Amino acid sequence: MSERFSFTLNATDGAARTGVIHTPRGDIRTPAFMPVGTAATVKAMMPDSVRATGADILLGNTYHLMLRPTAERIAALGGLHRFMNWDRPILTDSGGFQVMSLASLRKLTEEGVRFSSHIDGSKHMLTPERSMEIQRLLGSDIVMAFDECPALPADDKRVAESMQLSMRWALRSREAFGDRPGHALFGIMQGGVTQELREESAKALVDIGFEGYAIGGLAVGEGQEAMFGVLDYAPGYLPQDRPRYLMGVGKPDDIVGAVQRGVDMMDCVLPSRSGRTGQGWTPRGAVNLRNARHRDDPRPLDEGCGCPACRSYSRAYLHHVVRADEIIGSMLLTWHNLQYYQDLMQGLRDAIAAGTLDGFVAHFHAQRAEGDIEPL
Ligand SMILES: [Zn+2]
Repeated sequence: MSERFSFTLNATDGAARTGVIHTPRGDIRTPAFMPVGTAATVKAMMPDSVRATGADILLGNTYHLMLRPTAERIAALGGLHRFMNWDRPILTDSGGFQVMSLASLRKLTEEGVRFSSHIDGSKHMLTPERSMEIQRLLGSDIVMAFDECPALPADDKRVAESMQLSMRWALRSREAFGDRPGHALFGIMQGGVTQELREESAKALVDIGFEGYAIGGLAVGEGQEAMFGVLDYAPGYLPQDRPRYLMGVGKPDDIVGAVQRGVDMMDCVLPSRSGRTGQGWTPRGAVNLRNARHRDDPRPLDEGCGCPACRSYSRAYLHHVVRADEIIGSMLLTWHNLQYYQDLMQGLRDAIAAGTLDGFVAHFHAQRAEGDIEPL
């Protein structure tokens, strides 16, 4: 097992790339989808089950974990991997995005963000230095620089000032991270949907130097067309030999479009969250299992899927447990959705390696255009 963090690019197809991120805790095949384990759990899933879907890495949320159970408590109990019984790589966000979206009484200064917990109102301060300390206490393998991100739409002046603050925080994050072999620090590009700001942000980050680079500030309300517009140029400003992570994305068609444009890593709560609301994702689109059309349907949710929900249960059963609010409904649909996402990533990796991505993407869209199977 390698004791260092490194990235090997194995093949490209157009702007799309496939490779492997090597970490002391195991390899991450790219393009990678990272299930979100907000509060030290991927909700409704055992860690072994998450791994069985093909996930190589999980995401944990600094904001949630610092408030409950606290990073210090997790560190005293042996770190996040041991605490949640996941021994493979973990990426943690910096807390910057969630403090701005979840906390109350926020006060943003050059130093950082002072805020009140959404759980008990307690007062906290997040700075680049504190974010690095928390992520070190958690034992995160991939640490994210502390940044600030305005909701879009925002005027150019606000986006520029925010980006420049994030670049000063990126430098402070780099200095506070220190020398930690086997662990990586990723910088986060900001700049909204303005190309000049994205380029300026990328240059500032590359000057500082990071083990990987994230494209932040997207999937915050700008829409898919605007997001793809940024992804048409933004990955090109980043070094070829470092992984590129698009934060908070997305729906299956967002993922496919991002991979086509050169993104290597993504994360999103969508497959797990929608699994808890009765929604199943298949190659033919999203299926609402609450719908009465499934009540007498003995067929699997997706006959091409190898997950337990599809292998052992009917649409009628899934409909029943979802309508009855049985816990197994969330368990089965979360497993299925994570399996669908990981199968999609495997399909993308294989197609890029074979140089057949265009055909794969055409087939992906054709299947979705067909819609769900006809009712019985
Ligand atoms: Zn399935």
